[in-house]
Amino acid sequence: MISKTMDDEKSSENPEKGQSKLEVLIISDNKKYSDAGKEYLTNLITADGSSLFEISNLAIDDLITNGDLLKERSSGNKDISVYWPDILFFDIRENIDDRIKLLGGYLSSHKNCFTIVSIDERNFDFLINHDGWKDIQRNANGLSLSQTYRMISKKNDYNKYFERVLKEILPENTLSIIKQVKSGTLNVTKPRYIDFTKYATFSKEMREKFGSELVAKSLDILATFNPDETYKMLKKTLPKYSEDSIPQHCYPPFKDFIPISSAEIIPIIKDQDKGITSAYVHIPFCISECKFCDYSVVEGVKEAPAYLKDLRKELETIFNSTGWRTLSPQGMHIGGGTPSTLSVELVKELGDLLTDFFPNYQKNSRLSFEISPAVNEAKLDAYKNIGASRASVGLQVIRNEGLLKWLKRVYATGKGEKAVQMLLKRWPDNTNIDMLYGIPQQTIGSWEEDLTAAIELGVPSITFYDLRVSPRTRFVENQQFPSFYEIMLMRVMAIEKFLESGYKQVSDNQVVDSRALKEIGNQPYTYRDAKKRGGSTLGIGLSSYSIFPGLIYSNIGGKDPHESSKMMENYSNVIEEGKLPVDIGKILNEAEQMSLFMIQGLKLSGINKPANGVDTNQFKTRFGQTIYQAFPHAIALQDAGILEKKDGYLGLTHKGLAFEQLVLKNFYQRGINTA
Ligand code: SF4
Repeated sequence: MISKTMDDEKSSENPEKGQSKLEVLIISDNKKYSDAGKEYLTNLITADGSSLFEISNLAIDDLITNGDLLKERSSGNKDISVYWPDILFFDIRENIDDRIKLLGGYLSSHKNCFTIVSIDERNFDFLINHDGWKDIQRNANGLSLSQTYRMISKKNDYNKYFERVLKEILPENTLSIIKQVKSGTLNVTKPRYIDFTKYATFSKEMREKFGSELVAKSLDILATFNPDETYKMLKKTLPKYSEDSIPQHCYPPFKDFIPISSAEIIPIIKDQDKGITSAYVHIPFCISECKFCDYSVVEGVKEAPAYLKDLRKELETIFNSTGWRTLSPQGMHIGGGTPSTLSVELVKELGDLLTDFFPNYQKNSRLSFEISPAVNEAKLDAYKNIGASRASVGLQVIRNEGLLKWLKRVYATGKGEKAVQMLLKRWPDNTNIDMLYGIPQQTIGSWEEDLTAAIELGVPSITFYDLRVSPRTRFVENQQFPSFYEIMLMRVMAIEKFLESGYKQVSDNQVVDSRALKEIGNQPYTYRDAKKRGGSTLGIGLSSYSIFPGLIYSNIGGKDPHESSKMMENYSNVIEEGKLPVDIGKILNEAEQMSLFMIQGLKLSGINKPANGVDTNQFKTRFGQTIYQAFPHAIALQDAGILEKKDGYLGLTHKGLAFEQLVLKNFYQRGINTA
């Protein structure tokens, strides 16, 4: 056994140690931790290429508990002066009680040591309430408590850990630190609780409140994303212009839209008929207005027959104004509102309308539509008869009756499950349910119940939305929304649960089961995919949006969902006058088009998804520059593990998906806002 006193150390310091190198000792049983620490520190070199650190490592067993420290390492380093280092990394993530004592013993004999304690976020409270903690604080020259996570498993994660810790703890000029350490003047008098305390607190609270396996696993996954640091990083690079008050991305921001006339849009869209890859028809009728809906809807269906006639007139007017003859989009969607409020006769009329303007759509396009749970078999048959190949039911909440009532969804919980069975009979491979999270009063527990319920329904496709809160959303005042971390946890839980149950992710918020994917191919929701791959979208009806190269515009009703009845009247009057019902819009410059292209494309990301995210070649062909030239910060996001480039696509990683809203906002154009 070898022991050494402080005096021994001091006397040996000058002759044995280099004048400009810091001795670093890493004590851990985790080889990846030690290797990564060594590797990272070894790579830090001075301008003349020499190394800054003399690094050594020990396993915990090499320490003995009698207060005097070490036994000789079998691995051969005979220069034990290194065991009295300038900087000590001490890994106490396992057997924390023993290790606190070991560390206390070590520091009581070697006081002049800058100490970095690596701790598991779960054990934070245990450490700072431990008797030995006071000794550690007293005896370390400088002390930093640096949290890491038990879920860290890859060496690369450890490399990042060391990089972050060093950057956070040590001042920028390493040589000056060396001087300070050598002269004993580097002294952090108070321990700095630097990392992850916000997430650690959140994680602890969630584990205590909702101790399920799924919650624990999702928290562990999130922990590996270094949430506090990632959040800080993404916030830091956020363009000022990204409407911070609105949690979800929305590009271009709504405040950019200004009144626009048909005289402005016709010259832009008239030769674009071939580029229209998706078309949307808005059916604004709902049985009642749900709380938090931000769509343009009117209660009841009495105006539906007249509205269908207006839709026909709108299409006639746009075809006449542009000279278009027919359109053949890949994907069409009938949304709302609630398309299933239309009677069987009106659905047939809608089919005739589509046939007149989109001939052969039943052959060339995939048609999807939305229903509410309050639907009947005859209406579903009617949609089947007009060629619908995908049906989606907005369940939003499956099991929690109280939450449904609070949302003002006017049907009992069982009704939704019945509607699903009716859909599955007709669209066994392409029935989707919509689920909503991030709702006030929704808990992590009730979300988990709904995730289980969704899987029990046996649907081939599930879409999970976070509640969009925008200036247009109804009833947002005085509501307590789930926190950023809660929403992120809900998202990660959904992805985890669905992937674990055999679903595959086909976009940021949709999963489809493998069997259905085999049957219908990789684009089960063709309308959405065509739109997000940069094709043009034609929107028809109240409040619908259209997107063309260099232009985005909304019909009447888009900006005033709270006044839909009045807007419905305005829409109808304008149509009667033979005009296009366009209302607000924005001419997009090249840079804004690139942002839109990126943001839309990134939404086609998913874990292990083929064609993940934005098609980089398509971007280059369209804009004449690479994504990295247009958005140099994409490189940093890639380095941070938020984006990944694979097979010609740049998409969100698991971490990027967790932080999706902030990542997408990072692709807003900067500095355009003049307001
Ligand atoms: S959430 Fe759906 S069903 Fe409810 S009001 Fe909005 S569009 Fe209608």
